[in-house]
Amino acid sequence: MSAPAENEPSGARGPSLLESLRLRGVRKTFGSLTALDDVDLDIPRRGTTVLLGPSGSGKSTLLRCINLLERPDAGSIDFGDGPIRLGGRLGARTVRSVRSRSTMVFQQFNLFPHLTALGNVTLAPIHTEGVPKAKAEARGRELLEKVGLGAKADAYPDRLSGGQQQRVAIARALAMEPDVLLFDEPTSALDPELAAEVVAVLADLAREDRTLVVVTHSLAFAQRVADKVVFVEDGKVLLDGPPKDFFESEDARLRRFREMVS
Ligand code: ADP
Ligand code: MG
Repeated sequence: MSAPAENEPSGARGPSLLESLRLRGVRKTFGSLTALDDVDLDIPRRGTTVLLGPSGSGKSTLLRCINLLERPDAGSIDFGDGPIRLGGRLGARTVRSVRSRSTMVFQQFNLFPHLTALGNVTLAPIHTEGVPKAKAEARGRELLEKVGLGAKADAYPDRLSGGQQQRVAIARALAMEPDVLLFDEPTSALDPELAAEVVAVLADLAREDRTLVVVTHSLAFAQRVADKVVFVEDGKVLLDGPPKDFFESEDARLRRFREMVS
C-alpha cells in the first residue's frame, strides 16, 4: 500500500497537484520578431526545471513573462487556482497577484548600492509586505546565514565579491517567500570560483523541496540538479522532459547544442 503523499491538499487546487504553474499559449512579439511562439509549459511543484537553449531563443523573455516583467501578447498562466489570461489589459490586482507568486534573480544581481546586505534583503518585506522591521531583520539574518553570509549582514555591495552579491540577491528573493524562484543565468557574470559558491547555494535550495526555474548554459549544473529540462529554440519549446531525454537525445539540434556549450 502506498503512503499518502506529503502536504497534499484535500481538494485539488488547480491543474494538477504535481505542478506549481502551467503556461498555455504564451506569445510575445517585439515588433516583427516573435520571441515566444505559443509556449505551453508545466513547471513541476517542488522541483528544479532547467531552461536551456541558444542565445536569443527566448529563455529570458519566458522567465520575464512568468513574472510579468514582460507583458505577453496572449496566453494564460495558472498557479493552481485557475487560468489567468495574460494578453490584453491586465488589472493592477491581477498584476500584483501574478508578481507575488514568483521572484526573479538576475544575472547582474541588481542590489541597491546604498543599502547593506541586510538592508537589501529586508527592503521589500518591510516596505511592500508590511512586515515589522525587527521580524524582517531576524528573518533576513537567517537567510544571509543560509547563503553563507551571516558575517556580511552590515556590508555594502561594493565591499562584496560578485559571488557574495549574488548570494545576497538569492537571500533577498527567498525573503519574499515566493511559490516559484526564477533564476536568469545567475552565474554567468561570475568567475568560475565565484560561480561555484552560487551553484552550491542553488544546489542546496534544489534539495529543499522548492520550486526553481533556472536558465543556465551549464550542462553540468543541469545534470546535477534538474528534475526537468526544457529546451527552447526560436521561441518554441523543442523538448520538455526528464534530463535524460535531453542528454540522450539524438536530435541534431540538441546534439549540436550539447557539443557547443560543453
Ligand atoms: P535568451 O534569453 O534566450 O538569450 P531573450 O529572451 O533575451 O533570449 O530574447 C529572445 C529574442 O527577443 C531575441 O531575439 C532578442 O533580441 C529579442 N528581445 C528580447 N527582449 C527584447 C526587447 N525588449 N525588445 C526587442 N527585442 C527583444
Ligand atoms: Mg537571456
